[in-house]
Amino acid sequence: MDKIKFNIPPRTGREMEHIQRAIEGGKICGDGEYTGLCNDWIRRQTGSAGAYLTTSCTQALEMAALMADIQSGDEVILPSFTFVSTANAFALRGARLVFVDIRPDTNNIDEALIEEAITDKTKAIACVHYAGVGCEMDTILDIARRNSLCVIEDAAQGVCAYYKGRALGSMGDYGCFSFHETKNYSMGEGGAILIRDPEKTDMAEIIREKGTDRSRFLRGQVDKYSWVSIGSSYLPSDINAAYLWPQLEDAEKINEQRLGSWHAYYQRLAHLQDKGLLELPVIPEECQHNAHMFYIKTQDLEERDALIRHLKEQGISAVFHYVPLHSAAAGSRYGRFHGEDRYTTRESQRLLRLPMYYGLTLDQVDRVTEQIDRFYRK
Ligand SMILES: *Cc1c(COP(=O)(O)O)cnc(C)c1O
Repeated sequence: MDKIKFNIPPRTGREMEHIQRAIEGGKICGDGEYTGLCNDWIRRQTGSAGAYLTTSCTQALEMAALMADIQSGDEVILPSFTFVSTANAFALRGARLVFVDIRPDTNNIDEALIEEAITDKTKAIACVHYAGVGCEMDTILDIARRNSLCVIEDAAQGVCAYYKGRALGSMGDYGCFSFHETKNYSMGEGGAILIRDPEKTDMAEIIREKGTDRSRFLRGQVDKYSWVSIGSSYLPSDINAAYLWPQLEDAEKINEQRLGSWHAYYQRLAHLQDKGLLELPVIPEECQHNAHMFYIKTQDLEERDALIRHLKEQGISAVFHYVPLHSAAAGSRYGRFHGEDRYTTRESQRLLRLPMYYGLTLDQVDRVTEQIDRFYRK
């Protein structure tokens, strides 16, 4: 029987056509025609003042840390249950990381624990929309406003997902998307930064263009360009943007197909949750998710690892993440956990991600869920 992979990078079938056009257009560096199309699409789709493709979400986060003017000794509040890039972006600027526990239902930062982690050094809150399910943003934005903090959304998994009708990534000062091959929409390696405040788009263009005002020069707003701030090169090649573009054109179709797989998993596994054998994802009413991920939670680590082995024997690849950052070597060097780790470690040990990608068939979902059934019957 065919193996079922954990992920297959999304493709529409029109990628070659667009890549060829990008090459024949003779401009393959950053900010060509396809980058412009993608930027405009993201800006419209999210209602952001500015949206710019970057070479990764990691780079978008690093750019956000520069935009937020994070300095050595500042503190940034974030969950420990996240990918390393959320933390690296701020540690690279010399900030101290202050990890806060997650909620056991969504695995997002527990908004009720943020306020007590704030000190006079706190500069920003970095929240992560795990599995494309929004954090409790109204509470987080209110805390930030009352304490004059910047909010950075790691919306790597949140493209085309919403909280109370607002696009993930568009609510904080800065939002960061990923277009890595494991995400819902992909250009191999890539990402985007979203800017909420129209007065900050000029600075974003400067920081993204090596600290120069080259973007203004290209628009004819200045007659030569020069070095105006620190910055870096965050522009992807237009060839990569040409790969992404047809997927953005088909964004709705891709989203619906993924949601179909997600709901099929949920229906076929619901009886195991009813029997108290495992837990399924929780989607709060105010959140419209994008089926970035389908995960289950087992009783404990031992059961999770046994289930991974069982699925592997059946040719099904299921994976787990994240090793909590505060328990890693660099985590204790660059940060501290504030308060009690009630859920971060526990939930990360119970979590198992099932195969999920654009093109996963209902037959494949059936094969996965039948094997999970069989495991629990043993
Ligand atoms: C994938 C991911 C990233 C990193 O994205 P890249 O585009 O690979 O740099 C960052 N944060 C989270 C939560 C992610 O899932």
